Order: sequence, then structure tokens, then C-alpha cells
Amino acid sequence: MSSPSPAVERYDVLILGGSMAGVEVLYQLRRKRRGRTLRVGVVDRQEVHGYIPLCQERLSRRLHDAHARLHTAGYVTAAPNAEMIVGTVTRMNSTARRVFLEDGRALEAEMIVVALGSVLAPPAHRIPGVEGALGVKFDHEAHEVRDRLQQLRAPSGPTQPRVVVVGGGISGVEMAGELAWMSQRSDDLQRPFEITLLHSGPRLLPALCERAGTLAADHLEAQGVDLRVKARLMEMRSDGILFEDRVPTTPEQLEMPTDLVLWAGGVRPAPVLERLGIARRDGWLTVNRELRALDADGAAIEGVFVVGDAACVVDDDAVWPTMKRAIECLWQAKVAAANLLASLEGAATRVHRLREDFPHGVSIGARSLVVYGPLVLDLPRINTWFRRFLMRRYFARYGARARG
Ligand SMILES: Cc1cc2nc3c(=O)[nH]c(=O)nc-3n(C[C@H](O)[C@H](O)[C@H](O)COP(=O)(O)OP(=O)(O)OC[C@H]3O[C@@H](n4cnc5c(N)ncnc54)[C@H](O)[C@@H]3O)c2cc1C
Repeated sequence: MSSPSPAVERYDVLILGGSMAGVEVLYQLRRKRRGRTLRVGVVDRQEVHGYIPLCQERLSRRLHDAHARLHTAGYVTAAPNAEMIVGTVTRMNSTARRVFLEDGRALEAEMIVVALGSVLAPPAHRIPGVEGALGVKFDHEAHEVRDRLQQLRAPSGPTQPRVVVVGGGISGVEMAGELAWMSQRSDDLQRPFEITLLHSGPRLLPALCERAGTLAADHLEAQGVDLRVKARLMEMRSDGILFEDRVPTTPEQLEMPTDLVLWAGGVRPAPVLERLGIARRDGWLTVNRELRALDADGAAIEGVFVVGDAACVVDDDAVWPTMKRAIECLWQAKVAAANLLASLEGAATRVHRLREDFPHGVSIGARSLVVYGPLVLDLPRINTWFRRFLMRRYFARYGARARG
């Protein structure tokens, strides 16, 4: 490898992305004596991370932002050897392990862990106009949608505002339920609004058992949500949507006046993943069972790991059905951090284990379910309390500086 030019800042480890997976890699490195000696840089365009699993409650302000944010930069800089690098990654030369930022900076490292994740946004170009649908995952998105809702609900806004949520998976059900909760708490300054949940499949929560889907539908309808299953979004226009209703024997196309469309139809790879010099499957970065990034020939790229939503584990040419969830980020971060240290020390590495399920908490406005395989518990108060407890445990993991 040629020696770096003076303009290139050099680290032992660079962690690209400081959300759920990236911050946990740092946590795991710091737990080991050798890890604490390394100069680590964490690169992210966000210094603070809102708690994503309860993003719908942050949107409605049922959960105040101040109680639901991790001050990532505070956590990172709490150790003398770690540095938060606020910036946008534009590309990476994976073989040289050199990273380029939008502001012109270049960074290099002995080891790189990519944790640049996903975006909650519709697939471009498949549905005309759909790029106007908004997703709520990160803080700036929650702020934008909150502002839009405020304008719609103002006494000067449209007479009967309607918000359409697209996608009847967990995120869509949670979003529609939370909007119903908001609408029910209307007053003279904030008017109620109609909520439609549009889902192309025959039942809600397709990834969970049938009973969970049925209960979710009952709870949403009881809270006033207009539920449309077997309804596929065809087009988004400035004043409404066009969708295909496949409930009748002969499907029909219907128009619906709409003031705001929220996308909850699944995540897709963060755009930068295509410029990192790592082979991809459906846009996600391929890794082997040691979570080492793969090149176009399927060979491991020296010193580069991928974790979290961005990672697609390929084993014997088959893609693992890993969960894109917080718990999977924690499991992967532990393996990647251990393998990174093992590589530096010339020790044996370990392999990641496939786990396909884990209990789900599904919040549905005033109601709430806990689902594990075929088991469904309808526990509104306990689950709401428990999910906040989990959030506080998550923050506590990263210490007092992270709450600053
Ligand atoms: C609406 C929603 C609800 C969810 N609810 C739950 C839940 O209840 N339970 C659960 O377990 N999981 C939930 N998840 C999934 C969970 O949030 C993800 O699995 C987790 O956030 C993935 O973490 P990550 O670190 O891999 O990536 P992400 O969280 O996607 O973070 C990627 C990070 O990379 C940064 N980044 C991206 N591109 C660049 C760039 N070019 N330059 C610099 N920085 C960049 C971003 O700023 C971000 O900080 C939910 C996801 C969504 C979208």
C-alpha cells in the first residue's frame, strides 16, 4: 500500500455510521483492553440519534425528543482515543481502506467497519410520483412530518385532512395507530384528521402470525383508521392518490383525495452503499459469516467488515434471512468487533449465527401487542411501559455522556 498523503487522516479503526450498529461496535471495542488502545473514528452525518423503534411516539410527541435521543458524539468522545467525525461519506476505496467525505476530507484506517444502514423510502421510479411520500426514521424526517401535520391540522388548513400510510407491516401499523392516537387528541388549534392505511397484501403484519394481523386490524379500525387491504398504490398526484382495490372480484382503480402520504412499505439500502467498493445483493453489502465484506469474486476484503441493516450475509451463495432489527445490530456488532481485534492480533475469528426471530412489541396507538412466533399477548400498558424501559436500558448502555 502506498504511504498516505499528508491530507489523509489516519486511524486504527474507522466506523462508518454511528446509529444502532456503529455505536455498538465502539461499545464492544471499548470493552476489551486492546480495543481501548486503538484510535477509533466514528463517521456519521448525525451527532445525535433519535431512538428509531419508538419513532412514531416521537412524531406524536407522546415521547418527548429529549427523552428519546442518544447523544452519539458525547458517547464517542468520552474516551480519549475515540473521535466523532461529523460528515457525509461519499465513497470508499475498499482495498486501500480509504474513505472520502463530501467536504473533501479523506480518511484511512487499518480496519473499517461499515454500518451505514438503510433509508425508509419508496423504491424510486416504480410508482409515479411516489418520491413525494415521506418516511419517518431519522430525526429530521420526524420534524418535517410533524410540521406538515401541524399545517394540515391548523384551523386554516383543509376541511377534512387525510393522511395515507402506505404499507401494513409493523412500521405502517405502528404509524397508523399513532396517527389515530394523535387525531383523537385534537382541540381548537389542532383539528382531527382522517387516516387511511393502504396495504397491498391480504392481511396486516405479514411477517408475524395471522392472529397478530387480525388483532392489529381490529385495533386500528376501533381507533377510526380506514383500513384498505389488497390495495396497491398506483400513482401519487399533487392532490391525492390512485390505487387498485383488489377486494372486489374485478379489481378497480380508485382515487382518494390525500394531503399527506407516509411511506412505511419497507427500507432500502442507504444510497452511499453503492459507492463503497463492496459487492452487493439487491443493493445490500455482502459479507461472509465472519461479517467480512466481500468483493465481486466473493473473496473477503482485507480489514473491512459490514454490520447492521447494510449487511447481507451470504453463506454458500445463499442469502441469510437476517432480521433488520436493533437486536441483530447488537449481535453483529459483537461478532465484528471480536473479529476485528482477532485480525489485529492474529487470533482465531468467530462466525455469526443466524437467528430468524425474536419477540416483537407492536404499538397500535392506544393498544399494543407482544408477538413471538404463534404467541400473541394483547398488553397495552405493560408493553408501552416495557418498550420505554428497553429504550432507557439501551441509552444506559452508552453511559451518562450519551444523554448529555
Ligand atoms: C420506522 C422503523 C421502525 C423500527 N422499529 C424497530 C423496532 O421497534 N425494533 C427493532 O428492533 N428495530 C426496529 N427498526 C429497525 C432498526 O431501527 C434498524 O435495524 C437499525 O436502525 C439499523 O441500524 P444501523 O446502524 O444498521 O443503520 P441505520 O439505523 O440505518 O443508521 C445508519 C447511519 O448511517 C448514517 N449514514 C448513512 N449514510 C451516510 C453517509 N453517506 N454519510 C454519513 N453518514 C451516513 C446515518 O446518519 C445513520 O446514523 C425500525 C426501523 C424503522 C425504519
